[in-house]
Amino acid sequence: MNIPRTNLPRVVIIGGGFAGMAMLRKLIGEDVQTVILDRHNYHTFQPLLYQVSTSGLEPDSIAYPMRKITRNSKKCLFRMAEVKSINPEKSLIETSIGDLIYDYLVIATGSKTNFFGNKSIEDNGMWMKTVPQALNIRSLILENLEQAVITDDPELRKALLNFVLVGAGPTGVELSGAIAELKNHIVPNDYPDINPNEMNIHLLEGLDRVLPPMSEKSSRKAHEFLEELGVKIHLNTMVEEYDGHLVTTNTDLKLKTETFIWAAGVTGAPVKGLKAEAMVEKANRYEVNAFNQIKGYDNIFAIGDIALMQTQEYPKGHPMVAQPAIQQGKHLATNIMNIVEGKKLEAFKYKDKGTMATVGRNRAVVDLDKGSFSGFLAWFIWMFVHLWFLIGFRNRLVTFFNWLYNYWNYDKAARLIIRPFKGYEKQMKVDKEEI
Ligand SMILES: Cc1cc2nc3c(=O)[nH]c(=O)nc-3n(C[C@H](O)[C@H](O)[C@H](O)COP(=O)(O)OP(=O)(O)OC[C@H]3O[C@@H](n4cnc5c(N)ncnc54)[C@H](O)[C@@H]3O)c2cc1C
Repeated sequence: MNIPRTNLPRVVIIGGGFAGMAMLRKLIGEDVQTVILDRHNYHTFQPLLYQVSTSGLEPDSIAYPMRKITRNSKKCLFRMAEVKSINPEKSLIETSIGDLIYDYLVIATGSKTNFFGNKSIEDNGMWMKTVPQALNIRSLILENLEQAVITDDPELRKALLNFVLVGAGPTGVELSGAIAELKNHIVPNDYPDINPNEMNIHLLEGLDRVLPPMSEKSSRKAHEFLEELGVKIHLNTMVEEYDGHLVTTNTDLKLKTETFIWAAGVTGAPVKGLKAEAMVEKANRYEVNAFNQIKGYDNIFAIGDIALMQTQEYPKGHPMVAQPAIQQGKHLATNIMNIVEGKKLEAFKYKDKGTMATVGRNRAVVDLDKGSFSGFLAWFIWMFVHLWFLIGFRNRLVTFFNWLYNYWNYDKAARLIIRPFKGYEKQMKVDKEEI
């Protein structure tokens, strides 16, 4: 791996997501050698993936090169590698580019899509955890619109213009809202052969309300916003099968569709090699103590989505969202330096800064400690917070100008089929498998 052994303790971080990046940035300048590994050479800002898949943003505005961070210190190194397994007896990890010894190991591998064992959905559906997957969805949506224009089969045309999304959490809500905006503002101009009323967006949810993790008030408001945009919401509806053309559910609802997007849940993405007792099996996440140490290990830690820290306030662990990941990353950087300097470890305490979701232009919902609000102000705050947390001045600037342009012109600049998806599904399966 071409990593020199120095006299500094070596901290190896697996994963350059929110947690890994927050930790890396805090360790820059400290007296440890930090090695960060990721299968991609960039950090992905997952909350805005839906805008890539619906042509609102180019992918390079939400991705940030890992080496732009590590270049700030000779003690920090990046290697693009897939970590295959951990050998805790030898304090070693095995990767696609060779083995590496660690003094302290931090697992920040995040989560992957959960299909709850439904093979038909895994084989035939689309989902969105990475930039390539978001680009696959973008291509598929646009290719289906192109095909709808030319087909003379009315049943196929209907299926091409039916968009089915499953899971009314923030991702499902944001995606269906953004597809509805395509229908309302782009399709009438770009596709004069399609009557926008022919295009249907169905959002299916197994529970009895949209945005189940948010307050009832926000949930009601988001429901209202989605209906205003023309999204058809089906609550208490569980998908049983999607064979690539037809969705069947536990109710009478059956939908023919060529676009089926699964956004109904995630599960941890652990690495092989640790003792069984380290895992909370049902959640597929590592059980950690208040210092993020994985159960049964002193020098192996987990942070972010992959870590399950049970507290009185969060008996099932912290929510799998960006804030706990960022806060744990920063906190563990401090604790690793405490260990190195022989100081006492500090217990992690999560500060909940609130939850938000956007449904479309001028429509968002925000839950804070002191109450909930929605509408233009919530949307404005949503934009500001997302710009603030995007890494890199260039990315913020490009995203801001794109949003400004889209807002004034009711336009989406990136509706390009750069890499067709249809007909290439098999070659692109690697993108689908990539969690
Ligand atoms: C579509 C979508 C929308 C979201 N929207 C929001 C939102 O609006 N607000 C919010 O707070 N949260 C949102 N989240 C959740 C949030 O993105 C996650 O909670 C957060 O990314 C978790 O950070 P993490 O560092 O634990 O994992 P991640 O950010 O997922 O990072 C994990 C990293 O590990 C790498 N990796 C994994 N396994 C390996 C391996 N074996 N070898 C090498 N590298 C590996 C991955 O490539 C990745 O870079 C969203 C998530 C998704 C998918």
